[in-house]
Amino acid sequence: ARKGKTPEEVVKKYLQKVKSPPEEDCTICMEPLVGPSGYKGPAVGPISRADSVGRLAQCGHQYHFQCLVAMYNNGNKDGSLQCPTCKTIYGVKTGNQPAGKMEYHIIPHSLPGHPDCKTIRIIYNIPPGIQGPEHPNPGKPFTARGFPRHCYLPDSERGRKVLRLLLVAWDRRLIFSVGTSSTTGESDTVIWNEVHHKTEFGSNLTGHGFPDPGHLDNVLEELRVQGITEDDGGC
Ligand code: NAD
Ligand code: ZN
Ligand code: ZN
Repeated sequence: ARKGKTPEEVVKKYLQKVKSPPEEDCTICMEPLVGPSGYKGPAVGPISRADSVGRLAQCGHQYHFQCLVAMYNNGNKDGSLQCPTCKTIYGVKTGNQPAGKMEYHIIPHSLPGHPDCKTIRIIYNIPPGIQGPEHPNPGKPFTARGFPRHCYLPDSERGRKVLRLLLVAWDRRLIFSVGTSSTTGESDTVIWNEVHHKTEFGSNLTGHGFPDPGHLDNVLEELRVQGITEDDGGC
């Protein structure tokens, strides 16, 4: 479904027709919906008057069709679209995580705050490489610091659920990204992407350790924002 489809076709799939646009501005270009799109860039082809404004089918937010196509073209063009107002995701969102490996195993020790279960250790390994067209500086090398990165979850029912969803997130390339590290300031490097991980086992010197009673709920919410919900965690 992803190849073949033009950006216009992808966007159209998620839209309903709007007969008479409301007297409101398009929040992408800030121009009135009743007028033309304020998007200045490569033309997206002629659009009939009836198609110039669309309503996103699930959340109902309305935009110029041309503005949505421009927004889609600025992203990684994976066949999905995210409403810029309410963040509702249409289709399956994917990221730009570089190639690498995710592994996990059980270690027979308990985490602080989870005395009744063992621990899941996840090991992420991503080697440095060259940025692709989906990265900030295509063709330029990126570094990968601190790999393998070890992360911990309680081996409880809830922890295992988070693990299942993290495996989905990994497949959709949403765990890491390439950009500027807020910790080190280094640019063109592999960084965590909005889904928090615990990288400290027995202590909490960095703030990325245990105990943290809200952690699993926070991660589930961060995964939901990336479009990954409990429906995705099945076999
Ligand atoms: P970042 O600093 O841009 O931060 C992105 C997100 O990751 C933030 O939400 C932040 O809270 C979280 N984060 C930062 N440090 C973390 C940590 N130690 N454990 C878990 N989450 C963390 O992202 P980044 O540059 O990928 O993360 C920095 C971390 O990467 C370092 O603390 C270290 O663990 C690792 N690192 C290691 C080296 C090395 O040479 N050993 C170099 C750079 C980074
Ligand atoms: Zn607009
Ligand atoms: Zn919306």
